[in-house]
Amino acid sequence: MAEEKQVKRVKIKATAQMGKIMADYFYELDAAAKDRSKPIAWCTSVGPAELLLAMGFLVHFPENHGAMLGATRMATDMIPEANAIGYTPTICSYLTADIGAYLKGVTPLSKAYKGIESVPKPDVLVFNTNQCRDVQDWFAWYGDEFNVPAIGIYTHRGVKDVGEEHVASVAEQLKNLIPTLEEVSGNKFDMDELKRVLTLSRECSELWQKVLFTASTKPSPLTFFDGTIHMGPAVVLRGTQKAIDYYKLLLAELEERIKDHVAAVEGEKYRIYWEGMPVWGRLSVHSKLFAGLSANVLASTYCNSWIFSDFDENDPFNSMARAYTKLFIVRSDEAKEEYIKWMLDYFKVDGIVYHDAMTCPNNSNCRYGMAQRLEKETGIPSLIINGDLNDLRMISDEQTKTNVEAFVEQLEEQHG
Ligand code: SF4
Repeated sequence: MAEEKQVKRVKIKATAQMGKIMADYFYELDAAAKDRSKPIAWCTSVGPAELLLAMGFLVHFPENHGAMLGATRMATDMIPEANAIGYTPTICSYLTADIGAYLKGVTPLSKAYKGIESVPKPDVLVFNTNQCRDVQDWFAWYGDEFNVPAIGIYTHRGVKDVGEEHVASVAEQLKNLIPTLEEVSGNKFDMDELKRVLTLSRECSELWQKVLFTASTKPSPLTFFDGTIHMGPAVVLRGTQKAIDYYKLLLAELEERIKDHVAAVEGEKYRIYWEGMPVWGRLSVHSKLFAGLSANVLASTYCNSWIFSDFDENDPFNSMARAYTKLFIVRSDEAKEEYIKWMLDYFKVDGIVYHDAMTCPNNSNCRYGMAQRLEKETGIPSLIINGDLNDLRMISDEQTKTNVEAFVEQLEEQHG
């Protein structure tokens, strides 16, 4: 058996600053919800946040809240509440955990941030189905509950090459959101403001990409598990200077690590690619499991989802449409496989772990033979672990551990 040892991880110093800007973000939303000083929009994680910011909204992301419910291991107890009103246990466990928490009147925000008692009440809900249909149902439920508009963009799925027809359709839908957003916010749409926000968002995206791509160095200064924590600002604060300042700080620290040959996983021997959602309630367990086997899970499709290289302030609507449709999750298996092959090469990967998340088929790409096809083409071995992003009843820790140990042993044999 591959030998497992206790590995001391070097802490990322910038984490303290991230904690501060995330706290400021949640307190600002909470204050606006209480004194009604600014309109509040709820947005899907890869929805049109830039447009909402440009129209003067503060933006809350229910998926971020869903992930917090998962990371604090509250989700599993919330899910049955949503099941009881008709949302089955096999649909998105962000949705069921988030609606369940609302029905129970609890939020992890209360524990993390003194004085915050609930998520901020929305004035409008805006989704993009580029990731899945669940978001539309999720937001429609809250639209009824709060009696506010739930509007959105319906994106093409399974796209091989993003063509002008896709871009034109999504760009038109983005523009069609404006009258409702003007009515709800009381603010007039201002093209210069959208260009300003988009410029900030693109800079955030570029820096986030640089942060993630530091992991191509041997040894890697970063792990996937670090990435899942440090992606917070790229998700909820993109389009703001705060996110840019934060990623400059984090990048400088990681570049320092590279200069000093500091490995995120001491004695890194095997480099692993993670395909699929994280298991939020097991981040630390999984991080220790792999590190203990001298394996660094260092790159992923998931963390890269907030890289929007196509944003262009000179062509705001088309470039937003292109960026939000070029996302991995929107694409055909053929396009996804090309992308993963590039990633395996760039990050010098020895093995792939696919997380087959029970409640998210959209982020579980191993269900139709992709793992086998890629293994055949690249010769890089893979492991599929069954689990879920949030519902801990769907995972077996023992089985995951045994399978990961056997997989690393296989890598050991291959590498001699
Ligand atoms: S992509 Fe998956 S995890 Fe994300 S909202 Fe959709 S079903 Fe839920």
